[in-house]
Amino acid sequence: MSERDTDGARIAEKACETLAGSIRGLAAYHLNACVRCGLCAETCHVYQGEPVPENHPGAKVAKVAGYYRKYHTLLGKYAPRFVGAKDLTLQLLDELIETVYGRCTACGRCGIHCSVGLDVAAVIQTGRNVLAAVGKVPEGLQRTVDNQIETGNQMAVPPEELLSTAEWLADDLKVEMGDDDASVYVNQKGKRALYLVNPREVKFFPLSLMAAAGVFHAAGESWTISSKVYDVTNYGFFSGDAQSAAELTRRVVEEAKALAVEEIILSECGHGYRSFRWEGPNWVREEYPVRVRSVLELLDEYIVTGRIKVDPTKNDERVTLHDPCNLVRHGGLSEPQRRVLRAVTRDFVEMTPNRQDNFCCGGGGGMLSMSEYGDRRIASGRVKADQIRATGAKIVATPCHNCADQLLELSKRYDLGVEIRAVVELVYSSLC
Ligand code: SF4
Ligand code: SF4
Repeated sequence: MSERDTDGARIAEKACETLAGSIRGLAAYHLNACVRCGLCAETCHVYQGEPVPENHPGAKVAKVAGYYRKYHTLLGKYAPRFVGAKDLTLQLLDELIETVYGRCTACGRCGIHCSVGLDVAAVIQTGRNVLAAVGKVPEGLQRTVDNQIETGNQMAVPPEELLSTAEWLADDLKVEMGDDDASVYVNQKGKRALYLVNPREVKFFPLSLMAAAGVFHAAGESWTISSKVYDVTNYGFFSGDAQSAAELTRRVVEEAKALAVEEIILSECGHGYRSFRWEGPNWVREEYPVRVRSVLELLDEYIVTGRIKVDPTKNDERVTLHDPCNLVRHGGLSEPQRRVLRAVTRDFVEMTPNRQDNFCCGGGGGMLSMSEYGDRRIASGRVKADQIRATGAKIVATPCHNCADQLLELSKRYDLGVEIRAVVELVYSSLC
């Protein structure tokens, strides 16, 4: 046997072990549940953008399930062709990459329309776990995970850059608010809240960080960012690498303890919310020592309790809201952002469908960091572009920086002419 064959056999064996280890009772049910009724096809934005058999949710499940059946069912062992069971070879692992990373954003929408309640996104995540365990994550996505592990943030922004950005933002904020006490706090021990942000806010969209600082100042909040651990995202979650995901989560918890805060506030990020709030305690195998909330919940509290005063006429144009899949369908957070937008804008309209049933923007699941699937990502965003156009809105409030990047591109490619704004930016511009 050649060295390459030996390597291939070793990788395939590790993939089988990981697949076996990932399967718990519920996952086994999902892997075996598809009855191929075909009802889910039109619920998937990827299929709608490119209606080929490989993009059908049922076909994606069949791809992962075929390997499971071969090794973990009696029929799979003795009559593999009868149940579509397949050997886990190197070539098939390579085919699986395109299915679970390139044809699915794990948005979960098809799952709520499936005739037998099959959680397609969970099956896809199992496929990603297997590929991550054998080092077969697409290069761009893996680089983003490596950046986070090696530098502390997914864009490898040096701490000095965060510090200088915070400094000039604080200067601008003082002028804009006409108050010398307004500031952007970094590495301050003993503040009430540790605020995590998307590095994209530091590097390319600092006005969203400045807006949050302005609102915190207006509310008299006690808060800080950490220059070492400030990234709200977790690309280990997207790639299926639970070890990296756990390590990133642990670092945030340790930093919160070191800075002696009472609460961690997550800036607007769909997967950051889901992964830190809901998946994180399982990864680190302990309850968090401090409270964790999305900034959307905090903004809602400020407004409902009268801690900040807002004037909706300051946001006069029609605004609609995009529901990020990981925040809303998977994360269960749908109402605070709506209460906030109704309070701070004059003409708020819903997209159809919305909340649980909303369509993915096409940029989820780490898709934005895998350039090889760029054309499919844009094609799969057509349904979102149509949703936005139908609202007649001029502004799309988007509580996720990942979705914001995709929506900015969709606006150009589909000629929507809309502005993409974070919710906190609309709150800041409505302050009285
Ligand atoms: S989880 Fe989302 S992207 Fe994946 S198959 Fe279902 S609807 Fe399509
Ligand atoms: S709706 Fe459910 S059972 Fe039917 S093809 Fe889709 S995943 Fe399979």
